[in-house]
Amino acid sequence: MDKNYEIVEICCEKKKSEKCKGYTITILNDSSHYLQKYFNHTHASQTNSSNIAKNIADIKQQTLTTRNQPIQIIQITL
Ligand SMILES: [Zn+2]
Repeated sequence: MDKNYEIVEICCEKKKSEKCKGYTITILNDSSHYLQKYFNHTHASQTNSSNIAKNIADIKQQTLTTRNQPIQIIQITL
């Protein structure tokens, strides 16, 4: 893994409303996703994996165009 990677932390959309601790942390390196951490939702999940993949793809596109430093920590909410 080279130094040009991004750490992406994805929090549940119900983090506040239902105090859900569900989250996913991945590292994007080149075009590959490396799952680092995963915490299950405390409720029935309504987010399917294809949506997450699409969001990650969108984030990666943003980081590619706004990359200012080797490592970026990105936090989004699904
Ligand atoms: Zn959740």
